[in-house]
Amino acid sequence: MTYPKTWFRLAEVTPLALHALSCAGARRGDTAPGEHLRWSSIDGVDRLTCPGQPDDTHDGGGDRYDVPAATALMWRPERQRQLHPAADPARTLPLTTGPIPLIHALRKARTAALHWVALSPDGEHGAVAQISAHRPQIVPHRTTWSTAEVVARSVGSDLYPYLPRAYPALVADGWRDHTGGLLARFTRATAAEIVRDVRAHLADLPAADAARLGLIGLDWHGDAILINRIAGATIGQIDRCYPDGDSYYSLGAYLWGWQHLSDSPWPHVPAGRRP
Ligand SMILES: [Zn+2]
Repeated sequence: MTYPKTWFRLAEVTPLALHALSCAGARRGDTAPGEHLRWSSIDGVDRLTCPGQPDDTHDGGGDRYDVPAATALMWRPERQRQLHPAADPARTLPLTTGPIPLIHALRKARTAALHWVALSPDGEHGAVAQISAHRPQIVPHRTTWSTAEVVARSVGSDLYPYLPRAYPALVADGWRDHTGGLLARFTRATAAEIVRDVRAHLADLPAADAARLGLIGLDWHGDAILINRIAGATIGQIDRCYPDGDSYYSLGAYLWGWQHLSDSPWPHVPAGRRP
């Protein structure tokens, strides 16, 4: 069968790819060709991993060696699974071979405002990657939507205090992200409120905390909302959120773990009221 593309965030794939190269070099004591990432389905979720694991180079140290796909999973309360994991069985994504080695494309993409890596199966065990600026769609075709009041579990770092308000949204019926987060979209007016709230929140934080936490900043750029990761003096754009065909913004999809207001353990101001 033909699978839809499987989407990964460039901001997560690039550090993983750089790690995999150094990991392969460390294992063999050289930089022999053939370095690759492994694309496999673990517990029904597509993931990219360093093929070196598990071994003693994976004891932490800040490197990412496992990146989940930003792919909608069919939600069942007791168990969630991707409908058709594309990487079942495991596939190999070469980093240093081919006409344009992927590692070169990834390095260039970081400075070219590209944000997504879309993987497709290639042959029996291989994979090919396409790098793009924008992801046109966050859920499968013909998804239906329901109204909901949603709150973000975490905007940026786990240490980031939650946003104080709930927002009115449309949420995808029957689909969630790999953390169980709702896939939500917002009117332009609500998206603008979220941008204002995130910016107000950043302005309230002591500068030292803002520099330490790897926070998220939001900015309008025409019709798009730029999503930036702020780490000290460095600001890196990780995505651009454009309005979809119905003029809704899928802000924070696969990033912030949206959940129903009623499921949140934290106190929030209901949608439509000011804190
Ligand atoms: Zn590794």
